[in-house]
Amino acid sequence: MAQMYYEKDADLSLLAGKTIGIIGYGSQGHAHALNLKDSGMNVMVGLYKGSNSWSKAEEAGLQVAEVAEVAQKADVMMVLVPDMRQRDVYNESIAPHLDPSKALMFAHGFSIHFKMIVPPPDVDVMMIAPKAPGHRMREIFTRGMGVPSLLAIYQDASGKARDLALAYGAGVGSGRAGILETTFKEETETDLFGEQSVLCGGITSLIKTAFETLVEAGYQPEVAYFECMHEVKLIVDLLYQGGMAYMRYSVSDTAEYGDYSRGPRVVDDHVRETMQNVLKEIQSGEFAREWIAENDEGLQRFRTSRQEAAEHPIEKVGKELRDMMPWLQQTI
Ligand code: NAD
Ligand code: MG
Repeated sequence: MAQMYYEKDADLSLLAGKTIGIIGYGSQGHAHALNLKDSGMNVMVGLYKGSNSWSKAEEAGLQVAEVAEVAQKADVMMVLVPDMRQRDVYNESIAPHLDPSKALMFAHGFSIHFKMIVPPPDVDVMMIAPKAPGHRMREIFTRGMGVPSLLAIYQDASGKARDLALAYGAGVGSGRAGILETTFKEETETDLFGEQSVLCGGITSLIKTAFETLVEAGYQPEVAYFECMHEVKLIVDLLYQGGMAYMRYSVSDTAEYGDYSRGPRVVDDHVRETMQNVLKEIQSGEFAREWIAENDEGLQRFRTSRQEAAEHPIEKVGKELRDMMPWLQQTI
């Protein structure tokens, strides 16, 4: 059984009197900063001059300064700038101000695990990785609940890294839902694998291929959209609530029989082999090297992919149908 921690395991007083520097104020940054502030902690937000986020953070009542100033003043720093920017921000503005009294934290292990950032050995390095998009994390916290987080310790120079990370995790609300201990390696590799093979890459490719199959066979794109895309949320909600058996209980016996007899043919051993290869590229660092190079070369291929994907017929027909269901925008 995995090691789980809850509010009772955390001692928030470890962070009392300390300054927590939140570097970046985007999806994760705003949620961490505001949740910690509401938990009674002393928070400073680090940004660059001219950042759009600067006034947003000030309007929320937070103290804002440039990253280097925050790095000087903060005892604990949570790095929440985009993963591909972290190396430069760290080298330019954080590293020069690190000393053994400080702790460095991340919400995803990419920079540390793939050695884009190599902190000095006498600094604590930890992770609290909330398992939710930042806006959801903030909203759930304001309703008195919390989202689960992963905790990992990369360096425990002070002997207090785990207790400090637990206090931070409880401060952002995760003590209410559970804080699960992992490693930087496990979090980084499983996170990349999950988003590539299921959450982002797998699911969109499955939907798109099924949509194209129906449209190419002469069915109306609107029908194909409802069947292959719109209904995914309804099914996923059932999976989320009660697992696969609950989803199967809720659909018809015909759907359930089709699931058992046809599902494994759609996602067959060939797909399993591909997933194993995708995982190997993550483990070997090949994916990381490719993505870092793409960033260094100006993201041209990335932008082309984004453009092409946005022009796919499923997006056109989907927009028309969603515009007729304005209430969809309110569901979370
Ligand atoms: P984001 O793009 O939403 O926000 C980035 C913030 O960093 C912005 O406020 C931006 O102005 C600021 N920024 C950019 N460059 C900067 C610079 N040079 N100096 C100072 N500030 C700068 O990013 P995000 O999605 O919140 O991701 C942050 C981290 O959290 C990443 O490590 C990511 O993997 C991790 N994470 C994100 C989510 C999520 O919900 N999006 C979930 C779990 C973990
Ligand atoms: Mg993830």
